[in-house]
Amino acid sequence: MTDNIFLKIINKEIPAEILYEDDMAIAFNDISPEAPIHILVVPKKEIKKLSETSKQDQELLGHLLLVVNKITDKYQIEDFRIVVNNGTGAGQTVFHLHLHILAGRNFGWPPG
Ligand code: 5GP
Repeated sequence: MTDNIFLKIINKEIPAEILYEDDMAIAFNDISPEAPIHILVVPKKEIKKLSETSKQDQELLGHLLLVVNKITDKYQIEDFRIVVNNGTGAGQTVFHLHLHILAGRNFGWPPG
């Protein structure tokens, strides 16, 4: 059994509110939302963080952004922020690559 919580969600070993799924990616609601809408887009391939990706992941990385478009289109989310935390110092707590989609409130800039 893996201790990677997102792999457990991908493998349906633990539940999540899944909003989208295809052969390369899955998207589900964040368990501890930081905004009224907080969705995680997660590749099914086991990748610890963005900085560990390479040229061979080009299609997958593009796909993840197109999944963001599909979800925001489907739920008519016009204004949103995408966040990728890379490494502990940047706030990454789950070491399986994921994109946060945050929406439903105003966001400050620069981010905290
Ligand atoms: P990170 O801090 O690594 O960028 O983001 C990890 C995110 O995963 C956090 O926003 C956290 O709330 C979310 N999360 C952690 N465990 C679970 C879980 O078991 N289920 C869901 N749906 N989200 C989780």
